Amino acid sequence: MKITRIATYGLELPFKEGAYRCRNRTETGQTNTMVAISTDAGLTGWGEIAPLGAFYSEAFAGGVRAGVAVLAPELLGADPREINKLNRIMDAAMFGQMDARTPIDIALWDLFGQACELPLAECLGGRDGEDVALYRSISQDTPDVMLETARRHLDDGYRRLQVKVGEDPLLDAERLERVASLAGPDVVLYCDANGAWTSHDALRFLDATRSIDYVLEQPCARYGENLIVRRACSKPMVLDESCDSLDALIRIRNDGAADGVTIKMSRFGGITRSRLARDLAVDAGLKVTVECVGGAQIISAAIAHLCLSTPMALRTHTVDFHNWMSVANGEGFPDVVEGRMAAPRAPGLGVRAMQETFGDPLFVVGEDGS
Ligand SMILES: [Mg+2]
Repeated sequence: MKITRIATYGLELPFKEGAYRCRNRTETGQTNTMVAISTDAGLTGWGEIAPLGAFYSEAFAGGVRAGVAVLAPELLGADPREINKLNRIMDAAMFGQMDARTPIDIALWDLFGQACELPLAECLGGRDGEDVALYRSISQDTPDVMLETARRHLDDGYRRLQVKVGEDPLLDAERLERVASLAGPDVVLYCDANGAWTSHDALRFLDATRSIDYVLEQPCARYGENLIVRRACSKPMVLDESCDSLDALIRIRNDGAADGVTIKMSRFGGITRSRLARDLAVDAGLKVTVECVGGAQIISAAIAHLCLSTPMALRTHTVDFHNWMSVANGEGFPDVVEGRMAAPRAPGLGVRAMQETFGDPLFVVGEDGS
């Protein structure tokens, strides 16, 4: 099997809720990039990435698209099932830029699953259970508004809430208290500062919230600051933004810096290295959250498959980004039921890309392209 054509598409994905605020910045939607890799066997694999503006991670839409334009010609003619080999080709062609590799690597896995006639969860280690719990983020706002947002998510069946904090620690403590006042014993609370606090802020927040049961997520941006917080923290703590490479994950494990890690696919260049990181974290006994930074059904399918193939005892929750968006890009994704997400049963990602709604490709290499 050979790659004959790579087409790149882009969509605007406005948030259903209008605005999303974290790390003290507001975005009203995301700009995604989708890659379709076609072969001489008549199969096409799809991948997606949707950065959150340009402020959240190293990724931004223009950078992703420029990176895909550099990488795509390198892959023409290669066998898409030889995924590690193709990742080495991308390593040789481009230093870093994991975000640009992400939609390509996911599309290769979609092809691999289709070629094996197996859903990706089965290719990535085997489905452990039927579905995974979802969390909903409660965007930064006044404590009253955050309380109402929490109420809506609980009414919709979600049982894991991620309270966005990272501003004044005493205001943040009030936000958590209000949300916690609604949460019964079946609700799990995370407090995610997205690295926006100093260690000083984080220690004040911890002191003000001693009596509440929650998991602390990425209090500070710098690794050393998080180690200071970790030493004073009696709550379970997870690192997200600090877990941005396999090296970082090994350091977190060796330092005992967290009880869990978040593996965001776009930081690891797609499924291949995210799976490696997932397996390493599982072997170290760390709790694992597999997710990404946004997008619609195509990336949600990739997340669902990798998540469901993570041992149930060590996976935490994930996120249904496609339900945050007012635009869809795939059909065949199982409905979210009672705050839980399953993975498609069809081969590969198992979703049909709604190509007819994407407009013309941004650029094409191979066949009818250059
Ligand atoms: Mg986080």
